[in-house]
Amino acid sequence: MAKIISGKELSARLKAEMAAQVAAFPEKYGRVPHLAVILVGDDPASVSYVTGKAKASVEVGIRNTTIRRPETITETELLELIAGLNADPEVDGILVQLPLPKHIDTDRVIAAIDRSKDVDGFHPLNVAALWQKQPCTLPCTPKGILRMLWAAGVELEGRQAVVVGRSNIVGLPVSKLLLDANATVTMAHSRTSDLGAVTRQADILVVAVGRSKFIKGDMVREGAVVIDVGVNRDPETGRLCGDVDFAVVEPKASVITPVPGGVGPMTICCLMENTIECFLNRHEADAALKK
Ligand code: NDP
Repeated sequence: MAKIISGKELSARLKAEMAAQVAAFPEKYGRVPHLAVILVGDDPASVSYVTGKAKASVEVGIRNTTIRRPETITETELLELIAGLNADPEVDGILVQLPLPKHIDTDRVIAAIDRSKDVDGFHPLNVAALWQKQPCTLPCTPKGILRMLWAAGVELEGRQAVVVGRSNIVGLPVSKLLLDANATVTMAHSRTSDLGAVTRQADILVVAVGRSKFIKGDMVREGAVVIDVGVNRDPETGRLCGDVDFAVVEPKASVITPVPGGVGPMTICCLMENTIECFLNRHEADAALKK
């Protein structure tokens, strides 16, 4: 029986700690952190993610403004909206819910966010800082994964980590964080030949592919630590499921994350943490200017 790392429980604990921290901010700084979330269109998955972020903000005591715009918004209008939020001293974090409609250049939009308010850690300067081991806002999902591994007491140094998936938001940055933690990291993707042979090498297997129950029991080494990032609909039951076939992998794993209730809640938890970090960094910068 594997130990199951509950992202739901860990995030509840961390959010309670953050709530206690934020409760002291009005007296100390005159206000609480403010997160602005931009939602373009009404894609049900995006609406549900944005709702989850607003709910977590309430739990932590962070002010949340969700700004909804129609699918037809132009890129210029969206960039103007971001420029306004960049200039607003009362806004500490800006998040643009992805994906954006096809007529909008996502990279341009992300790059338009003031780096100091980039709570997602997607701004090119934050990405560059991560790869150069400089202080930066870490992307939420990879940060949440590392938090889970630490909380479960998983040793990373010197161990073999395999990350399946190489996206900018999950696979690449989590590989870098594992490397920084002194794991030996292999990155696998859609062109990897004999994927099972690669994943079976893993002491720590992180899967971010986006395919229901893609990782089967014979692809996992006995005693592996398995982190399932995927959020999919099971075509048979219609229920949420991960990229890992939990029923057959769990008996082989030593530690595993569930879907739902695993990486997802930790992603939102780290967004709250990043918003507080941006708020504190901006206050420190202001205080330094006034010295
Ligand atoms: P992307 O679609 O951007 O990337 C998927 C990656 O999987 C690509 O690198 C792709 O390889 C690789 N891949 C696809 N098919 C295969 C295959 N047959 N064998 C090996 N590798 C393959 O997805 P994301 O990284 O954005 O998301 C991955 C999953 O994680 C999704 O289910 C998403 O919903 C979920 N997610 C969950 C979050 C959470 O908070 N829980 C947050 C973000 C994402 P290649 O590069 O060669 O195309």
